[in-house]
Amino acid sequence: MVIPASDAQKDTLMHGLMMDTPLLISSIAEHAEKFHGDREIVSVTMDNPRHRYTMGEAVGRSRKLANALDKLGLATGDRVATIAWNDYRHLEIYYGVSGAGYVCHTINPRLFPEQLVFIINHAEDRWIFTDLMFVPLLEKLLPQIPKVEGFIVMTDEANMPETSLPNAVCYETLLAAESSQYQWPQLDERTASALCYTSGTTGDPKGVLYDHRSTVLHAYAGVAPDVLNLSSKDIVLPVVPLFHVNAWGIPYSTLMVGSKLVFPGPKMGDGEALYELLETEKVTVALGVPTVWLALLQYCEQSGQTLNALQRTVIGGAAVPRSMIEQFSKVHDVQAIQGWGMTEMSPLGTANTPKAGQEGFSDDQRFDLATKAGRGIFGCELRIVDDEGQELPWDGVAYGALQVRGPWICSDYFKLEGSAGSHSDDGWFNTGDVATIDPQGYMAITDRTKDVIKSGGEWISSIELENTAMGHPAVAEAAVIGVAHPKWTERPLLIVVAAEGQEIDKQALLGFFKGKVADWWIPNEVAVVTELPHTATGKIKKIELRKQFADYALPE
Ligand code: AMP
Repeated sequence: MVIPASDAQKDTLMHGLMMDTPLLISSIAEHAEKFHGDREIVSVTMDNPRHRYTMGEAVGRSRKLANALDKLGLATGDRVATIAWNDYRHLEIYYGVSGAGYVCHTINPRLFPEQLVFIINHAEDRWIFTDLMFVPLLEKLLPQIPKVEGFIVMTDEANMPETSLPNAVCYETLLAAESSQYQWPQLDERTASALCYTSGTTGDPKGVLYDHRSTVLHAYAGVAPDVLNLSSKDIVLPVVPLFHVNAWGIPYSTLMVGSKLVFPGPKMGDGEALYELLETEKVTVALGVPTVWLALLQYCEQSGQTLNALQRTVIGGAAVPRSMIEQFSKVHDVQAIQGWGMTEMSPLGTANTPKAGQEGFSDDQRFDLATKAGRGIFGCELRIVDDEGQELPWDGVAYGALQVRGPWICSDYFKLEGSAGSHSDDGWFNTGDVATIDPQGYMAITDRTKDVIKSGGEWISSIELENTAMGHPAVAEAAVIGVAHPKWTERPLLIVVAAEGQEIDKQALLGFFKGKVADWWIPNEVAVVTELPHTATGKIKKIELRKQFADYALPE
């Protein structure tokens, strides 16, 4: 919380004599070009299995893009969206759009069409950059997104598809016409720079609006030795998507320090393709959700391969199983660093790196500690509170609602003006996670108060599944909870009470979801019960249900 200076203080306030230069995303690009211009960026793209160029070329092309965007008649703060995998063009768009003063709205293509329509309309996106692969999807959405003025297809003229998208422009053709000379605007550092919607809370997806200042500060924090520990010597593979919280800040942190970047394009979940990229490009740091690393580790196990260059993997977005940390360490000599954060937090909040005094730890002690979410990094304050909002002790035992505060934590959601009830009266953000914090500052997530399920790093709304189930005539009452799953971390289990005189046909009930929600949201199994536990106000007691089904094993 900012404590305003009183009038009396203002009269006597002595400012320091430091320059007031704004923290701008374009300054990261300029720095990268000057100091790391020859550093390589390698990408798998939709139209090229291995594209290579340099950081200097990336920055030059982002300036060309900024020139092109200015000619579209956009105003500062206007939203320009991307729907694309991780590759060099997406990186150029990050810098070209934000650097020129527009807002880069990254869209998650895995969302159900209705959510995509909601997000595009809510953000008021004026133009959309799209990978080739998503052109048919956008064509289908077109009647429902009439305000989008045009589409830029991220490919070259040779691969440009026939499309019904209006004002469809080829990315390479657009750039070819432009100069790489461009004067980045000297924006106010609090100018909005990027927008990312999260469905990690109930109701419609909510937009988190980052600014230049928050992004640059977050990137500084990310490179620190006890966080991601990035330097110009590193070769970094972000498997975490550029459409998910700015790929954890990697596009900014790596250009700040000049790490070589390796982008996997559409090959994000393919263990063999990832292994090949890690080995041939000699990647030292790779980042992603647990599901991705499971695919990689399984591939290594089945093919008898070990990871030779990789030194660290940063795993977050969901709880990291101890077995995964152990396997990385014992089989591959790779340090697995667990991180925790949220879209609302840019996202870095904690990183699980060792502290002085832990040198003599046994393997068991090390792995036990590594299963925690990590310790707070400077710039993100943490606290746990009880139901009355009273702070709880950091004893590793007391657990409570986890709240955060800091310069890269959202102060509100886009266009919701405080109505989300996401902040405490004294200005802390309620994460919806429940946690303990131990005396050394290591935080562990113990539960979640938000009613959602996280499968393979992506959110599933239990409420939407429950509403859908309730639309089936055989269902009197329905609840959906997440249950443990070895590959996806969590999968939805539908628990129903049958309507009077009705029998539940489980397969028919699951089939009922088809076309109503995304296929990957459909619950794995149905459990039929005679009644559901309720609170005094009639709400289903999810905590009770989670306890009841704690040992539930989903069928293979
Ligand atoms: P998102 O906004 O999609 O990045 O999701 C953020 C949420 O993911 C957090 O509030 C947690 O519920 C969950 N999450 C992220 N990292 C971890 C972790 N290391 N352990 C457990 N849950 C996590």
